[in-house]
Amino acid sequence: MSHADCIFCKIIEGKIPSKKVHEDEEFLAFHDINPAAPVHFLVIPKRHIESMQTLAPEDGPLLGRMMSLIPRLASEQGCRPGPEGGFRLIANSGKEGGQEVGHLHFHVLGGPRPWKI
Ligand code: 5GP
Ligand code: ZN
Repeated sequence: MSHADCIFCKIIEGKIPSKKVHEDEEFLAFHDINPAAPVHFLVIPKRHIESMQTLAPEDGPLLGRMMSLIPRLASEQGCRPGPEGGFRLIANSGKEGGQEVGHLHFHVLGGPRPWKI
């Protein structure tokens, strides 16, 4: 279900443009508008979930599918495999966790160091 004031729901609906990395029935991945690393995209569920703090026990399988999608997309976006490559996964949750957009999202960051964060 989409939330009227949620910018990520608007991105899912195509009301706000985005540079898509991946889309399927459950998930959308798109480039962060303000990248903090050479590779920086966001992965979101299409269903509006506010944050990691509002996940329900029955959301476990959805989260599992999201976690297995992320390494595949990271490597498609140029993150090198193996211990010399890799990526960073961040989920800011709530105000004190640094979350600015109230729709669950994972930041995937990678590429040659150094980066800003
Ligand atoms: P948060 O701080 O909530 O974890 O991160 C939100 C992220 O969403 C930020 O890195 C910000 O740059 C990104 N962002 C905010 N608005 C938009 C937008 O309209 N389009 C895209 N592609 N990214 C956005
Ligand atoms: Zn939303």
